[in-house]
Amino acid sequence: MKNNSKNTTPIITQYLKIKNKYKDILLLYRLGDFYEFLFDDAKKASSLLKIQLTSRGKYNNKPIPMAGIPYHSIESYLKRLIDSGISVAICEQIKNKKKNNNNLIERKVIRVITPGTIYEENLLDENKDNLILSIIYQNKIWGIASLELTTGYFGVLEVNNKKDLFLELERSDPVEVLIPYSMKFKKLPIKKSIIKYIKNKNFNYENSYNLILNKLNIKNINKKLYNGICAAGAIIKYINYNKIYNLSHINNLFIENKKYNLNIDNTTKKHLEININVNGKKDNTLFSILNTTNTNMGSRLLKKWINNPFLNYQLIELRQNAISKIINYDLIYFLKKNIKKIGDIERIITRIALKKAKPIDLIKLRNALKVFPNIKSLLNIILNKEKKIKSILNNINIYLINYPNIELILINSINDNPPNNIKDGYVIKSNFNNKLDNLRENYNNSENYIRTFEKKEKIRTKINQLKINYNNINGYFIEIPKKKIKKYKIPKEYIKSKSLKNSERFYSKELKLLEKKLLEYKENLILYERKIYKKIINIIINNIKKLLKTSKALAALDVITTLSERAVSLNFCRPIINKNKIGIKIIEGRHPIIELVTNNQFIPNNLSLTNNNNIKIITGPNMGGKSTYIRQNAIIVLLTYIGSYVPAKYAEIGPIDKIFTRIGSYDDLSSGNSTFMIEMKETANILNNATFKSLILMDEIGRGTNPNEGLAIAWACLEQIIKIKALTLFSTHFFTLTKIEKKFKQIKNIHFNAIENNNQLIYMYNINKGAINNSYSLTVAKLAKVPKTVIEKSKKIIYILNNNKIKNNKKNYIFFP
Ligand code: ADP
Repeated sequence: MKNNSKNTTPIITQYLKIKNKYKDILLLYRLGDFYEFLFDDAKKASSLLKIQLTSRGKYNNKPIPMAGIPYHSIESYLKRLIDSGISVAICEQIKNKKKNNNNLIERKVIRVITPGTIYEENLLDENKDNLILSIIYQNKIWGIASLELTTGYFGVLEVNNKKDLFLELERSDPVEVLIPYSMKFKKLPIKKSIIKYIKNKNFNYENSYNLILNKLNIKNINKKLYNGICAAGAIIKYINYNKIYNLSHINNLFIENKKYNLNIDNTTKKHLEININVNGKKDNTLFSILNTTNTNMGSRLLKKWINNPFLNYQLIELRQNAISKIINYDLIYFLKKNIKKIGDIERIITRIALKKAKPIDLIKLRNALKVFPNIKSLLNIILNKEKKIKSILNNINIYLINYPNIELILINSINDNPPNNIKDGYVIKSNFNNKLDNLRENYNNSENYIRTFEKKEKIRTKINQLKINYNNINGYFIEIPKKKIKKYKIPKEYIKSKSLKNSERFYSKELKLLEKKLLEYKENLILYERKIYKKIINIIINNIKKLLKTSKALAALDVITTLSERAVSLNFCRPIINKNKIGIKIIEGRHPIIELVTNNQFIPNNLSLTNNNNIKIITGPNMGGKSTYIRQNAIIVLLTYIGSYVPAKYAEIGPIDKIFTRIGSYDDLSSGNSTFMIEMKETANILNNATFKSLILMDEIGRGTNPNEGLAIAWACLEQIIKIKALTLFSTHFFTLTKIEKKFKQIKNIHFNAIENNNQLIYMYNINKGAINNSYSLTVAKLAKVPKTVIEKSKKIIYILNNNKIKNNKKNYIFFP
């Protein structure tokens, strides 16, 4: 777009100058009471937001497309744009500045809003971390940095292969990813729309190192993490560029270490329905049934725990101990009741640190601070008696401190129902500050001053109908009905400003002086109230490090209390972690989601896998419970490794490094792969990466191809797993495959059964030893109303196949009557 000022208006010239700096970003340009999109932005915004596309003036003789939104409803539109991954620059009119030569109001971009740099409550998803990531690849090492601006979490990770990078991208589920221009990826496991290519120089090591030390509240960093630091610096640069500068709440650069994580890839998470169910919805998932947290920060942390099981046995035990204490001391109800009053202080405190807190944030913080002592005394009921056994309640208690001074200031200073914005006034209570009270009185008297002036003028001019009125454009003016004008003598010092149908408007020097004085009162009042507000914010900022730790401790307490409540309500038991013995032993295990949604009683089942007996082949009828059984055992392992209780009567779990799944229902045909190709890709991934500590779930492998080839592949896979020694649950409809049990002592057959009664199948759902050679496919087909003739014919074919009656001659076909 060429800036041809001869051809257009000053406003458009101004627009083009600003837009030039934000080429790839939608520019919201403030014009009076509207934010306008212009040129191509207008077309984009009008289709995205379904707003009307109009035009304004001309540029190069063509109408300029324009689409606008009223300034007061900007947030709802912003939410829609941010949710679709679009970044927006907000350009405001700068008030109180002199207009320039063109008599044009100065305009300036005051904020760039991108999905990863939002902090506004209304724009954020309260149930999800809002992570921005940056990635750099140098010297064969990937450096990954991640920042959650709204909680101050800042971490770096270095990995040396693409697979781990992909795993990290899937695991962290970022909303924005920064990549240097010079790096081009063919395929990343994230949506293209969230990737932002930025200049390579933003990743410069020296700059990054200095930025981290100078801009954040971090004293020292591990210099060895070369690429990690480059990536971390790029994020800070990006955030500064987006006009966020106060980052004092970021006080640590965590070095993440994947060695201690129990790896679960996205496919497995989908199969286990951890975050979304088979239908892609959020209900009936592991997260949804566990999430009875009472704060949004708790809900986000629970999601993090569930998605990041780890192998830190000590921490798992600390969590388990906390759950058992809260249950034993009967504190669930009381803790939950108090935690509910805390709210999302994690994000509130961050907004305070960023100096972007709204008055209502301070009220919410005040209300939260009030309940800290109650929660602390509840914790002390446990901690005073349980000196020997350590739990994470000890850690929580250390960080849960009271802030009586802040609480008192907030009680005394902020009005209980404050306006949305400090600019609106009356945020600070009366009697908090004398000077403010005086300024308010002056301002409140404005109306009196005007009425006194009016009265004086009426007497002086003898015009009884004279009135002093006000509007936003002209300010105060003297208004006299036209009829009276001729009758009375208008004073010389009245200067005519406007003539209306029924009246004339005037102003006088005296009135304008009075107006100036009143405006000054107003301005002084706003400025002074803002100054007090800033002071209060700064007092809180002085405690920000401690407050952030307290909020994190309370989020953890919310999660632990929730897991305690779930353990009691859903009848979970405390699993034993046996870190020295490979294997899984579960007695009366259940599937926590199916158990809740099924109308029938859920039948619990046992499982025993050991080092020498590490594979179970599961056979049984369709719909017999195989898949449920496989998944429930994986869920029990996962819950164990987040420190939760588990749906079983007894569980003893050994070390597990990864959970792999190959389950048929997720055939992603939209990716262009055939069902069988996907099956094989998942199988390859498992066989190439599983170890003797892995848990493998394979549901019906070899299904998508001809039976003999499928059977052969399934058989060979099993033999490979025997070599790997991974703990494996392998369900199949290939009865022949169960014969492998005879050859390998590591393999045991188990099966589900059903009874046929009046053409109906009654499923037993309890697992038995041995294999079964009946999948009840015909009964299921009949129930599904497949035509009778087909069923009858199938029966005959099965008979022939089972009795090996097909002869290898050209007339084969005649054997099928
Ligand atoms: P399969 O994998 O053998 O085809 P599923 O595991 O999908 O069968 O189970 C089918 C349905 O049977 C489940 O959706 C659930 O309603 C029910 N079901 C499965 N296992 C149990 C159980 N142990 N107790 C009660 N109902 C069960």
